[in-house]
Amino acid sequence: MEKYDLLPQQLMYEGLIESHQLFEPSGPISEQAILLTHDSEYWNKLKSLSLSRQEIRKTGFPLSQALVDRERIIMQGTIDCIPHAIRHGVSLNIAGGTHHAYTNRGEGFCLLNDLALGANHLLHHQQAKKVMIIDLDVHQGNGSAEIFGQENRVFTLSMHGEKNYPLHKEKSDLDIPVWDGIGDRDYLELLEKHLTPALDHFQPDFCFYQCGVDVLKSDKLGRLGLSLDACKTRDRIVFSALQEREIPVVCAMGGGYSEDIKIIIEAHANTFRLADELYS
Ligand SMILES: [Zn+2]
Repeated sequence: MEKYDLLPQQLMYEGLIESHQLFEPSGPISEQAILLTHDSEYWNKLKSLSLSRQEIRKTGFPLSQALVDRERIIMQGTIDCIPHAIRHGVSLNIAGGTHHAYTNRGEGFCLLNDLALGANHLLHHQQAKKVMIIDLDVHQGNGSAEIFGQENRVFTLSMHGEKNYPLHKEKSDLDIPVWDGIGDRDYLELLEKHLTPALDHFQPDFCFYQCGVDVLKSDKLGRLGLSLDACKTRDRIVFSALQEREIPVVCAMGGGYSEDIKIIIEAHANTFRLADELYS
């Protein structure tokens, strides 16, 4: 997708980052790492390209080897962000945020769930005891909620459009549904009201942040009414709360479907600009 090229170009053009601060994923994620999260039957069907026609239709993509390979690289990108976040407080995947992938099926342009793979990687390698997934993409993190429905070491928080996709919502540990057209002030107030108590109650030692920018008023699919400034303030609320509590965070970009690609890039770039401002 175009934004994955344009975003790093923009960040380098404005001098926010230098090329040595960008890294490519170390390779495709291992099968062992995939199987910490996903069902082996599903993974076998995915890798042998033998999902049923209906299962393929649900993913939204025409299934191909290139697509599976690309997804595995993106997943590893989120895993590779982890040590950088531990060292610097924050690390950002230019792609990822594939929160609609379930244990045993893909959905909504997500085949594997990078947030879940990252959380299970940390737990499995005893790099964290409690992980929180903060999902502020406009669409509910239904896959993450299902994957961790029975796992009390992972807390899933999803703030999303209540009338938006997915029609059938899963139960996250904390769901914050918002109404169509919600404006800046109401949205930000709701976020602040719920985020800090959740952090103080659960006390995670690591976070994943799905910072989709489909919450913007300009978004074709979002149905909310946020300005670019409010989207940046949203990120500031999250980063500040985590920084105050010394919780490292890996960000994955998630959705963004504004008509004008410049707005999408600007909103994602704001997350990087803010990370730079707060963490360097
Ligand atoms: Zn979305």
